[in-house]
Amino acid sequence: MVTANRLGKNKGGYRGESIDLDNILGQLEDQSKAEGWKTEHLHFGKTSRESLLFQESRDTHHQKRVLISGGIHGDEPATTAAIAQLILKDELRGGISYYVFPCLNPTGMRRGVRENAEGFDLNRDYFKKQTKEVQTHLRKLEALPRFDLTLHLHEDWEADGFYLYELTLENTPAIYGRPIIDQVGKVCPVELAKKIEGMPADRGLIHPRHRYLDRDDWPEAFHMMRHKTDHCLTLEAPSDFELNVRVKALTTAVQTAIAVTLG
Ligand SMILES: [Zn+2]
Repeated sequence: MVTANRLGKNKGGYRGESIDLDNILGQLEDQSKAEGWKTEHLHFGKTSRESLLFQESRDTHHQKRVLISGGIHGDEPATTAAIAQLILKDELRGGISYYVFPCLNPTGMRRGVRENAEGFDLNRDYFKKQTKEVQTHLRKLEALPRFDLTLHLHEDWEADGFYLYELTLENTPAIYGRPIIDQVGKVCPVELAKKIEGMPADRGLIHPRHRYLDRDDWPEAFHMMRHKTDHCLTLEAPSDFELNVRVKALTTAVQTAIAVTLG
């Protein structure tokens, strides 16, 4: 039974603690080397801070390939913190090739706001591709193979608990959602609303069946489903809880998804 309670801080937006992004990215680059992680800086601006960190696990010869991304919304610090923990504490199981973008919106994350420095919501730009960050991200993705699964870490400042979107091809069952919710439910409350963001939800699980690609404000997940994968999970931690609870929720969700992938 989870006893974590809402903090009541999030009035009109995320009002919780932030992370030291540059310290975390520096640690990821320095300390993950010993474990064989390869790091790349994908520059989208003139200064050294205007770059996306990309990391690839030592072994990318494994048959199963998983992409993990976070920090596309700068007011969702637990996402980058969770990815850093998974890599730095060696919490990702072997036997899979990992491709990781720990923070897709560094200018927003440094200021603690959802949008990038120019005011764009990057997670609505994967169709129009107007922002340098998304263009840079897509250029790297083009050079990468297809993935068995893509995982996109998010937080929701209004949610009462954890939930996720599971995107699949039509007539394909959602095999990840329930095991993930069951495991995350042990460390963090689950969102029990019957409708989340206007979509029918079943105990924290949203599995859209309509033709969700008929929009021009594509989030990252839509690009993945169109071009890079047949199975995609958007994981949403409730950001009105302690940061460590949300990090634990997200790391548990990723680890469970990996376990299901490995079978
Ligand atoms: Zn988000």
